[in-house]
Amino acid sequence: MEQLIGRAARDLVDSKYAIGLTGAGISTESGIPDFRGPSGVWTKNPEAERRAYLGYQEFSEDPKKWWEERLSGRGQSFLGDLEKVIPNPGHHALAELEELGILKCVITQNVDALHEKAGTKNLLEYHGSFSKLRCISCGLRFGRDEFGLEELMRENQLPPRCPKCRGVIKSDTVSFGEPIPSDVAHQSLEEAWKCDVMLICGTSAVVYPFANLPRIARERRTEREKQTETGIYAVERISAVTIIEVNADPTPLTEEGISDYLIQGKTGEILPIIVEEVKKIRK
Ligand code: NAD
Ligand code: ZN
Repeated sequence: MEQLIGRAARDLVDSKYAIGLTGAGISTESGIPDFRGPSGVWTKNPEAERRAYLGYQEFSEDPKKWWEERLSGRGQSFLGDLEKVIPNPGHHALAELEELGILKCVITQNVDALHEKAGTKNLLEYHGSFSKLRCISCGLRFGRDEFGLEELMRENQLPPRCPKCRGVIKSDTVSFGEPIPSDVAHQSLEEAWKCDVMLICGTSAVVYPFANLPRIARERRTEREKQTETGIYAVERISAVTIIEVNADPTPLTEEGISDYLIQGKTGEILPIIVEEVKKIRK
């Protein structure tokens, strides 16, 4: 493991455009359950998973009812009170890698806003954020407090409407069955096309289309000159990206050879050591 941590630090220092991808696993050490880990919400309660899949359908059919259920606490809330949680050393390590100029962007599946709280600046929230609302027509985002939701409920004015286009407002968090907002979908693809190191932390990589990002990066090739035995230079096509996983367990990315290597363990422990190693190399 120490060897792999050193290798990751070296790969990051040598990179020109490294990006991070994160999933629920990076936030379990902040007390938020993941979905598919051993203590995950779905692992313990498969029925909750089945109901969750109806999320966007329920919203589309009756946005007023959907809002009323959420505001009265009857709606689905799997992750506990996200206002109170704080980032852990894993989130801080990624923010520090950005500050060191190494990590250019973090794309997270998490809706907990912990990367933002830890200070990551160039952040793409692929599945939205619990602290924001979004117009499903024009895509504009708002702070959660901007609409006076409780008052709208009392006055029977739900669902909230977009001040710009009158579209229906939903929480920014992407429900099952809901398309990924086009801005983050496009920007994430661009990042996957651009990066030369991808550091994937705490995701089971089975939720699509997010799980396509490492696969798309893996397909990319770059050309390198190499001297053959006869002394003639030839061009060889090599992978354009190094993909590193930090995860408690192997994932399909590990098993299918999408990632170059897995550092197995907790992100809150491993990522800070990687940062220390990066600093030592750079001294
Ligand atoms: P997942 O639950 O499917 O997988 C989490 C992965 O992280 C597992 O492989 C698990 O073994 C690993 N893991 C757990 N704790 C870890 C730790 N401390 N260190 C390293 N690895 C650890 O999560 P996912 O792949 O992100 O997919 C779940 C979906 O649910 C996502 O789309 C996400 O939007 C949503 N979700 C978000 C949160 C959150 O915002 N914190 C929490 C649960 C689920
Ligand atoms: Zn709008």
